[in-house]
Amino acid sequence: MRLTTRTNLAARTLMFCAVNDGQLVRTSDIARRCNASVNHIARVVQQLQAEGYLETVRGRSGGIRLARPGQRISIGAVFRIFETDIPFAECFDAQRNTCPLAQTCRLRTYVVRALEAFYHELDMVTLDDLVRGNCGLNDLLAMHPVPPGPCSDRPLQG
Ligand code: SF4
Repeated sequence: MRLTTRTNLAARTLMFCAVNDGQLVRTSDIARRCNASVNHIARVVQQLQAEGYLETVRGRSGGIRLARPGQRISIGAVFRIFETDIPFAECFDAQRNTCPLAQTCRLRTYVVRALEAFYHELDMVTLDDLVRGNCGLNDLLAMHPVPPGPCSDRPLQG
């Protein structure tokens, strides 16, 4: 099992925005810090905006920010958005399925259960859980010195 690149980039983008909450960030900032191409990040940002996770402030000093608090962003919900249009096995797509076992396959049932368990775990995780108090992540992603808080004992970044 492997997450798609865009799911992974969506998670990185949201973590970047959460670490830098209260500031407007640019797609190019996210791409640079998250080691991704600007085009890939731009597509992910567009989808996260359409789903109501990010919002854009237009203008010369505009940028992107979270559209809701990190406590209200479920990682499971985000993963579902980016993963669900890709069938886990070919029998999950009735239109394109060529597997002759589909009508009687028990494996399919177990795979469905395993996927439900996978998403159930992630449904209980919020963006805030990934970021709050994560000093290492702050060191990597913060664009400006971190304000006083659990990570403020770290040396300030330039
Ligand atoms: S073997 Fe079972 S799980 Fe795999 S594609 Fe066929 S029906 Fe689906």
